[in-house]
Amino acid sequence: MALLDELNPQQREAVTATDGPVLVLAGAGTGKTRVITYRVAHLIEQGIAGRNILAVTFTNKAADQMRHRIADLVRSGGHDASDIWISTFHSFCARLLRREAPSAGLSRSFAIYDDDDQTRAVKLALQNLKFPEKELAPRPLRDRISHAKNHSISPDEMEAEAFDPFGKKAAAVYREYESILRKSAALDFDDLLLRAVALLRENSQVRARWSEQLRFIQVDEFQDTNASQEEMVRLLAGKERNVCVVGDEDQSIYSWRGAVSGNFQRFLGDFPGARTIRLEENYRSTQVILDAAASVVSHNRTRLGKDLKATLGSGKLLKYYEARDASDEAEYIGGEIASRLREDPRFTLAVLYRTAAQSRPFEETLRRIGVRYRVVGGFSFYQRAEVKDALAYVRLLFHPDDDVALLRVLNVPPRGIGKVTIDSLRAVARESNVSLWQAIPRIAAQKARGASALTDFRQMVLNFMEECANKNPGEILEVILSRTGYLDWAEQQDHLDNSARAENLRELSNAIAEAIEQGETLEDVLDRASLVSDTDEFDQTIPVSLMTLHSAKGLEFDHVFLAGLEEGLLPHGRSMNSDNDVEEERRLCYVGMTRAKRTLALSRAVYRRSWANADLAPAAPSRFLAEVPGDLVEAAQGSLAEPGETRRYEPDPDYYESQFRRAKKPTAHPASRSAAASASGGAANRLIGARVRHPSYGIGTILKIEDEGDDRRLTVSFRDYGTKKFIERYAHLQIV
Ligand code: ATP
Ligand code: MG
Repeated sequence: MALLDELNPQQREAVTATDGPVLVLAGAGTGKTRVITYRVAHLIEQGIAGRNILAVTFTNKAADQMRHRIADLVRSGGHDASDIWISTFHSFCARLLRREAPSAGLSRSFAIYDDDDQTRAVKLALQNLKFPEKELAPRPLRDRISHAKNHSISPDEMEAEAFDPFGKKAAAVYREYESILRKSAALDFDDLLLRAVALLRENSQVRARWSEQLRFIQVDEFQDTNASQEEMVRLLAGKERNVCVVGDEDQSIYSWRGAVSGNFQRFLGDFPGARTIRLEENYRSTQVILDAAASVVSHNRTRLGKDLKATLGSGKLLKYYEARDASDEAEYIGGEIASRLREDPRFTLAVLYRTAAQSRPFEETLRRIGVRYRVVGGFSFYQRAEVKDALAYVRLLFHPDDDVALLRVLNVPPRGIGKVTIDSLRAVARESNVSLWQAIPRIAAQKARGASALTDFRQMVLNFMEECANKNPGEILEVILSRTGYLDWAEQQDHLDNSARAENLRELSNAIAEAIEQGETLEDVLDRASLVSDTDEFDQTIPVSLMTLHSAKGLEFDHVFLAGLEEGLLPHGRSMNSDNDVEEERRLCYVGMTRAKRTLALSRAVYRRSWANADLAPAAPSRFLAEVPGDLVEAAQGSLAEPGETRRYEPDPDYYESQFRRAKKPTAHPASRSAAASASGGAANRLIGARVRHPSYGIGTILKIEDEGDDRRLTVSFRDYGTKKFIERYAHLQIV
């Protein structure tokens, strides 16, 4: 059969083993995702109905691609693949809960709160409790709440366990947040999973219905599933246990989101007798790239280990570029990208980095040299303020109790509803334990100030509800945008700040029209808007993508530039205190390296302006660089150092000083060349990056200066002895 001819024997085994549990454990680029795609196509060819098959992917985009790929594969046989369940865990749970809303005790029109809505709900909770945001920042609180939910810790338990006033307050915010969501009939991302799992666990009828329907289950990137997702797989597997999961322990990069290591061992425990299949041939990268990546990740202690063989031959050496600073790094990468594209405009290229904020210099360079690029994981279309505003209006029509949606648009465009009015509305809602929407008539009855503007707003929404009852979704949006004055307002704003809000609103209208043509409902559109993730915006027609290492998972590019290989960035500063966290950073590095098909370039900057410290500061090379074998990498033209030297390279004080003077006001040179003599303020800063001689350790570079006067302490990095800390007056250092 043609389908199976495109697979190697191990892949074929995994694809055809459709009876009983299967675990595919394999390294990057060995065709795990391909196994899932072909397996689903194979099932369809065997006459299994699409609606009996579930494939869980990591992003909605991956789901789309898989759907198209499967349709291509089965088309010749005249099979229909349109109703296969292919989605992320979250999208699947949303669909399940909509269908089972009554059994789950939910209103069918529940809203889904995405990250931004969740943060807004936390802010609302803070306001309700009169806790200042300065003391309790909403985002970390949101993460804390999410963590608690995922560990089934209730607000009461969180409060009981709190050992400081901050913890008690956090628990109170958690309780209030939950109450806001309940009143708004909204679910956040954690709820989607938790509620769906709880429903399947507790309601045997529902469970039977779904597990009988979804007879064949496959899960990609299984190393990153969390406890609820694992439980969901167990519950859906039913008696037939036709489950195939694929993954790579070395690519587990989401432990902070609750993915727990040991997924594969647990799978074997949950599904005794599971067949384990290993894939060892890599079809993506050259052998040099694979060996370099394998060498880095082999420094992790907690792994099983495996060998990867490239089918593509050995390939070119890795390039290493040591840049003076971030813009020099971007220059180098921009130049390389331009010349690769001159070689072949069909190449795909990616610049990968650890933190989203690193994209800026690359964007500037690429824009200047006129190369089209896309930043993945920036603001996606559905996260733009105007799109969210418009959809919040639509949400209100379905469900006026949605507090977050209501607050979002209550005074947008401005209609004279000020902070005082909103505060008293919140107070009334809280006192009477009702939604903000339901509080409006109560506040009107009290004849409070600003009540008439609120009543007008409410009447407007009621009118829309009536008017839109028989309209199609495209028309609904049009009515809302024109009658609220939102479109006019957006156009005015566009005029003021030269933005494209109105255009985006038209695009939204197109998106809705398209979705409706494809048989979706307006609610499907709303769900999708809430569920889009960063990587969903990934567009393969644009040659160059800039993205974080997290977003790069599962993707592949002809040429990859892995930038910012510095201590504090990769591994990230937050991870440095724990071996486990550093191991996760190393896996991220491995994920990045293994995205490359033809060439891989690594780079780092000697000086970088860090976010926390606006000054330019010397950055030490990432420890991962030293883990790449020297014979697999060569210095790029213009690099400040050879790859083997990276560990020993000393920052250049002249350069640092010139940059420093440019950044600050010019100051006089230190009068003396002795380190001890230039003790005061600004002069101390200038010593950072200076080269010094120590009687026993030899030549080194000053990295950090703390305290003043007699207590002044210096951190110095030595060529052969690593980093040492001294009290200056005892250290006998001489500037050289
Ligand atoms: P990752 O761990 O990065 O997710 P993966 O194991 O899922 O990687 P795939 O993305 O499925 O790997 O495959 C990597 C590349 O190799 C893809 O371009 C795929 O089409 C190709 N490939 C996989 N198996 C084969 C095969 N048997 N013959 C030809 N090409 C293959
Ligand atoms: Mg994959």
